[in-house]
Amino acid sequence: MSVKSRSTINVPKILGSLGVIIVNDHFVYTSGRHGRAYVNKDALYPHTVATSNICCGLADAFERDRIDVVVAPAVGGIALSQWTAYHLTNFGDPNHEVLSTYAERDETSLLNAEEYSHSIGLSSCRTIYLEVGEELVVKKPQFVLKRGYAQLVAGKRVLIVEDILTTGGTVAKVVQATKAALGEVVGVGALCNRGNVTAQMLDVPKLHSLLDVRLDSWSEEECLSHGPCSEGVPVNAQIGKGSQFLARTQGSR
Ligand SMILES: [Zn+2]
Repeated sequence: MSVKSRSTINVPKILGSLGVIIVNDHFVYTSGRHGRAYVNKDALYPHTVATSNICCGLADAFERDRIDVVVAPAVGGIALSQWTAYHLTNFGDPNHEVLSTYAERDETSLLNAEEYSHSIGLSSCRTIYLEVGEELVVKKPQFVLKRGYAQLVAGKRVLIVEDILTTGGTVAKVVQATKAALGEVVGVGALCNRGNVTAQMLDVPKLHSLLDVRLDSWSEEECLSHGPCSEGVPVNAQIGKGSQFLARTQGSR
């Protein structure tokens, strides 16, 4: 893969060639539903040229929005934040560096077994044993800007980037964290929108996704009646929850 100029970036081709988007197969999703397509964002990030080219497309969509800072949800979004800010900097005024930051889940350390090992009784009559050096951390649902990043977004025009929009729940939390830090959220840029998420749902003025994918899905019963199961298409056991599904249903069908 080569570095592309922004006019020649073919997002579906890049994502298809790396196996980020797979179609015409038979998958079992985390929800247990079956479908013919799968979006595997983790297949993108090891490829830096492809990631850069994809983010060039995101930066292109927000070039005229005078972005100061890019924010993304950790972990995968960090790579998108870096590359998108890099391209926005290159497209704009050379004296105006667009910064890259990220938001992460708020977490609290409950116990740090620094010198002695600990045991903790849980309400469900279970006990957790912590060895020396281990730490018990609780991850909360909300996102926060740590590491001094809240100060970087305060009063600034912020673009939020994300790889896959499914319900938009994660991005909505990053929008909240950015607004709480007094950043002005100008828009959201996504690699792929597979859940018909809208700008209104995220409470932002602009949403741009490089690719809109509709993932039709069926329950197990529906798939047997009129989905790929009914056509005898083998379940993909390598990606998604196909192997668990096959282990559970083996012999019963
Ligand atoms: Zn099926």
